Formats: sequence, structure tokens, C-alpha cells
Amino acid sequence: MFTSPSIQNIAPAILKAQKEIGSAVKGSSNPFFKSKYADLGAVMEACKEAFNKNGISVLQPIETSDNGITYVDTILLHESGEYIKSSMKIAVKADNDPQAQGSAVSYARRYSLQSIAFIPAEDDDAETTRQAVIKEFRPASNVTPTTLKCSKCKTTVNDKVADFSKSRFKEIYCMNCQPK
Ligand SMILES: [Zn+2]
Repeated sequence: MFTSPSIQNIAPAILKAQKEIGSAVKGSSNPFFKSKYADLGAVMEACKEAFNKNGISVLQPIETSDNGITYVDTILLHESGEYIKSSMKIAVKADNDPQAQGSAVSYARRYSLQSIAFIPAEDDDAETTRQAVIKEFRPASNVTPTTLKCSKCKTTVNDKVADFSKSRFKEIYCMNCQPK
């Protein structure tokens, strides 16, 4: 975590905001608690107003270092110019997969914000969320196509051919065996 040289103005503002966030999260009308999988929007809703009311804006710029590592910064910027910043490194196995990159950015934004705003997460949900994230991050090329075989000639087909064939002929056929 990085801070401005002085935090004497932002510190009491965060304390005030945190008290408000605490009661917002406790309120049963808050969608944050009704949803099993709190998304970025729910986390934002749980804290943005309380921060803003106390002179704090929340910024989440995405930075890329010289060696190509991407970070999501979460900055609490006080109207006095003081700030508190945390950075979260984004780890994506397939660097050139924009969808995985997008999921990773959303994930980092949500967790960084939830963490810096001190918003609790239900323990029961942690595993589900972790599994969902792992699933999201797995590049499509990791899906093993070996179990998909043409039902006529038993040639192995990839998942795209299998999907197409199933939706069209209700059966997996390779390109050669697909009815013309
Ligand atoms: Zn075939």
C-alpha cells in the first residue's frame, strides 16, 4: 500500500466512511447480501456513496509496467489531495486472451475494492467464488478435445466442430461425416 506523505485529512474521512459502509452492508435491503456472488457493481454500491459523501473519490486505473505486468490500482483520493493506494497484480495464463484479461481485471477490481473498503465476504461463498474465478481464467485451449469423437468414423473432433455438429445434427460427426 502506498500513501501520500501526509494522511491527516484522509484518515478521519475514511473512518467516517467506514462506519457508513458498515451500516450499509448490514442493512438487509442491500443487494450485496442477497446475492451469493457479489459482483463489482454490488461492491461499488456498498461503498461508493459513503466514500463520496466524505470527500473521497475511488479510482481504479489499470497500469502496465515496463516488463509487461498488468496491475489494477485502487486509489482512495481525498479532496485534500491525500491518497491511499493499493496495487493488485493481474495473473492471466493466456496473455493474448482479451476475455480472460477482462475477467481478471473485474476480479482484481472487485477484490481490491472490497478489501480496501473493508467489506466482508461470506465465508461460504469464498470457495464458490474461487472456483468460478479459476473457471473464468482457464483458457479455452485447455479444454481436452480427446473425448469428443465422430459417432460414425470415431475420428477425434475438436469442441467447436462437436458443438456445431450437435446443434445441427443432434449427434457428433466430423467434418467429413456431417450430412451435406
Ligand atoms: Zn467421421
